[in-house]
Amino acid sequence: MAAPISPELMIVMSPGATQDQTEHVVARLEEAGAEARVSRGREATVIGAIGERELLATIPLAGFPGVEQVLPIVKPYKLVSREIAPDPTVIEARGRLIGDQWFGLIAGPCTVEGREQTLDTAQAVASAGATMLRGGAFKPRTSPYSFQGLGQEALRILSEAREETGLPIVTELLDPRHVEAVVEVADVVQIGARNMQNFMLLAELGRIDKPVLLKRGPSASVEELLMAAEYVAKEGNEQIILCERGIKTFERTTRYTLDLGSVAVLKIETHLPVIVDPSHAAGRRDLVLPLARAAAAVGADGIIVEVHPQPEDALCDGPQQIRASEFGEFAREISAIASLMGRHIG
Ligand code: PEP
Ligand code: MN
Repeated sequence: MAAPISPELMIVMSPGATQDQTEHVVARLEEAGAEARVSRGREATVIGAIGERELLATIPLAGFPGVEQVLPIVKPYKLVSREIAPDPTVIEARGRLIGDQWFGLIAGPCTVEGREQTLDTAQAVASAGATMLRGGAFKPRTSPYSFQGLGQEALRILSEAREETGLPIVTELLDPRHVEAVVEVADVVQIGARNMQNFMLLAELGRIDKPVLLKRGPSASVEELLMAAEYVAKEGNEQIILCERGIKTFERTTRYTLDLGSVAVLKIETHLPVIVDPSHAAGRRDLVLPLARAAAAVGADGIIVEVHPQPEDALCDGPQQIRASEFGEFAREISAIASLMGRHIG
């Protein structure tokens, strides 16, 4: 097996550097057995050099034509860091976009409970202009006696909802044994908060060709979230959306404490899009709109919100799900704030 490699140097090309000069640097790095990732930004081209630090040190990169600066990457996360790719990553699924100028409005039931409930919700969120449809097929429940999701049957219902509405599907992958089944239906594969540090699962997702929505663990630091994303990126999949969904604190008035400060930090630290889940953070329907507004205002790239036709009958997370009939107004309020931030619903 190949030894693990990580990017060690960042080569910043000068603004006037030519394509040939960039290619020359890349060729020299590759000759030395290193891998080069070129990121062509608006301001400058940056080359991340992945290889043995000692070996890289033998190449006089600083003197190469067109090279402005050679910097070591000191952060523990590398591929996901903004240093290596100064421009924001935009995630695309079935023509829908999240990141940079595109604000993602992902909405749908916590859990797929049946055909009618899912199709009704899908229609409601689609006509309100949602970007994607969410819905759990395999549910990570705190109690083994709680409803665990409809599994395969739910995946069939989600495909039907996509056919009817054209919305891409976001659904959670819980178990590496379900990778094939989930990836076949999902347009974006969600990794739940409880699995944020399931490193084997993350590595599996690094080998698929679908975007990953990675939720922050309730007790995970921002750095741990970025390192989890690095696991996916390292295997070759850099289509990752990060999601702040609330962390555990001493506070009991909300289900979790929504850490909007982390969103501001992440927007500086990484080029990946960062979205917010106000539903799981709040745990209460009446707080979802104000938290979603704050998310849009802090600079999040989108939100993921739970919507149900009759939340009082929901099999999971009823108290926090927004009524489908009220989602149109909710979407209007959020898109107004997103547009103040220079974003359009993707
Ligand atoms: C969910 O989005 O349905 C979910 C279970 O969220 P989390 O993993 O953030 O608890
Ligand atoms: Mn839920």
